[in-house]
Amino acid sequence: MEILKDSQKPQLNHANVKLAPTPAWTPEQSADLYGINSWGNGYFRINQNGNVSVTPQGTAAGPSVDLHELTQDLLDRGIRVPIMIRFPDIIKSRVDLITGCFAKAVADHNYKGQFCGVYPIKVNQQRHLVEELVKHGRDKRMGLECGSKPELLVVLALMNTPNALVICNGFKDTEYIETAVLSQKLGRHTIIVVDRYEELKLIIDAAKKFNVRPHIGIRAKLNTQGAGKWVDSSGARSKFGLTSVEIMDGLEVLKKEDLLDCVELLHFHIGSQVPAIQSIKSSLKEGARFFTELHAQGCTGLRFIDVGGGLGVDYDGTGSSDSSVNYSEQEYANDVVSVLQGLCDEKGVPHPDIVTESGRFLVAHHSILVFNVMGVNDLRRPEPPRTATKADHPLMQDLQYIYEKMTQDNLNECFNDLLQAKNETLSLFTYGVLNLPQRAWAESMYFAIATKMVALAQQGEDTEDIVNALKEELCDTFFCNFSVFQSVPDSWAVGQVFPVMPIHRLSEQPRREATLADLTCDSDGKLEKFIDTETGKSKKTLNVHDLKAGEHYYLGVFLTGAYQEILGDLHNLFGDTDAVAVSIHESGYTLDHYVPGDTVTEVLSYVQYRHYNMVDNVRQAAEESIQKGTITKQEAKLLIKHYEEGLSGYTYLEDPEA
Ligand SMILES: *Cc1c(COP(=O)(O)O)cnc(C)c1O
Repeated sequence: MEILKDSQKPQLNHANVKLAPTPAWTPEQSADLYGINSWGNGYFRINQNGNVSVTPQGTAAGPSVDLHELTQDLLDRGIRVPIMIRFPDIIKSRVDLITGCFAKAVADHNYKGQFCGVYPIKVNQQRHLVEELVKHGRDKRMGLECGSKPELLVVLALMNTPNALVICNGFKDTEYIETAVLSQKLGRHTIIVVDRYEELKLIIDAAKKFNVRPHIGIRAKLNTQGAGKWVDSSGARSKFGLTSVEIMDGLEVLKKEDLLDCVELLHFHIGSQVPAIQSIKSSLKEGARFFTELHAQGCTGLRFIDVGGGLGVDYDGTGSSDSSVNYSEQEYANDVVSVLQGLCDEKGVPHPDIVTESGRFLVAHHSILVFNVMGVNDLRRPEPPRTATKADHPLMQDLQYIYEKMTQDNLNECFNDLLQAKNETLSLFTYGVLNLPQRAWAESMYFAIATKMVALAQQGEDTEDIVNALKEELCDTFFCNFSVFQSVPDSWAVGQVFPVMPIHRLSEQPRREATLADLTCDSDGKLEKFIDTETGKSKKTLNVHDLKAGEHYYLGVFLTGAYQEILGDLHNLFGDTDAVAVSIHESGYTLDHYVPGDTVTEVLSYVQYRHYNMVDNVRQAAEESIQKGTITKQEAKLLIKHYEEGLSGYTYLEDPEA
């Protein structure tokens, strides 16, 4: 007997019509469907086993790990899904990439300044990550940027690279500024950027108090705006930066204090994830003019230009949306270098060293959230409910009629009738005409008709509208073990697209479409914006496989390394997930760190609940009930056991098999 592979078995479609066996599905087809070769940047691809593989060097020849096997291996060690898997090697590769691009641009243009990037820690402050960046960036003069007092404290503890910069941005008070100024005495090159005019006075005071010549930066408020989702970070109404008037006044004050030559750096930042190179170029032109003008005004110590962050990440592989970029990192470096060179040469100003504050670019790729699917809400109905008869409500008879009479040729008419019948069902139920069993029957029939209609429409022509409308109605909801608010908050907050796909079974055709609902009870707690590689836009459903009984189905959200972890919140008390850092080498991989996710007790303590009091209250209630005889001692013991285990457990759903 010939044994058919799954993919060769005759498939039943929605309307129970036998279809011819479909040709085998290949990992390459999955790659096209999910666009992984576009957004994966060489770090992520699909291997011949049909699993996602991770290649931190970004080149096919480098060492790689099978993400599905890795997940299994982590689960075997008792690490729990959802898991945040971090690959520090990817960060190294990103640091090498950006420094390499600037080195090339500097060499190609015969530019006289140096590149010295800083990593803005607000993008992801995890200690292991920042330590890794400092370590790997040591020979690349890589510095750190802080945007608040607590971040300055982190940076001072970690940054010890001679020659590298510490850039201080954000809202500053006396304590922030005094700490920054004093750090100079520890040998740090700490540049305090004047983000608001008032800060200038505080810097002057601190300089006098400690008798140091401070490193001063000036943030210019550009008129040029960025674009995309973070456009409000720039332009005349932006929060930070000095206007031309304030800069002129400030220079006057500094001159009087004999501190003009302490101005070392000009800074601007036009917002994060700038999708178009045109905005970057315009801001550079305006920013470079500020630079040459400060020089003309006698800032003889001026030697750095800090072009801020904004270097984008291609989240959807389209090259044309707000979640993407229309330029490469090399183009970015070339433009920065050539614009600066052009304007400096024109005005006879020496080429400054170039500081970038790229954060997203460096860390977005390095972490992946992997979670399992708990269950599915399947609305398809291959079988209609019992046949409606003359004894039934006329509306039910109408639905029965639509079901039976529907053919390829009258689809449009049937579709309109169906929508009308649906609305009538709902009103008649509300007005007390239809009872619950009748409503249930009508709902069942609605989905049976829709299921059959999609099957018919898919074989016909000019039925795209019907197919699309009904597919959205009929798509599955996969209930997934994660929280959007904790792990991918930007998807909810600013509608950003993240790449999402199954991490295994990619040599099987995904025959279903689903939206992904998270564990929170919030109706916004779902992912329903996915890459549509066919149209280059986004779509509401993800192609997924049929769930198999007794087998877990794992999905990954990729490119979650920037901002998501720290912006994540405790909605519904879902805490930090388990996290691991994995290093990959030729002979395999090692787990560098395991950071357990929050326990329920930890999360509750943020909202002032104490473990002891809670257990005590429940114990007392149980004791009283034992006295009253409403619960047995054994039952009370079990209740307390569950209660205590719950408090010390994971906030996410734990695998019942584990
Ligand atoms: C947030 C921020 C950055 C980082 O921007 P990315 O787009 O993540 O590179 C850099 N500089 C300043 C001043 C910022 O506020």
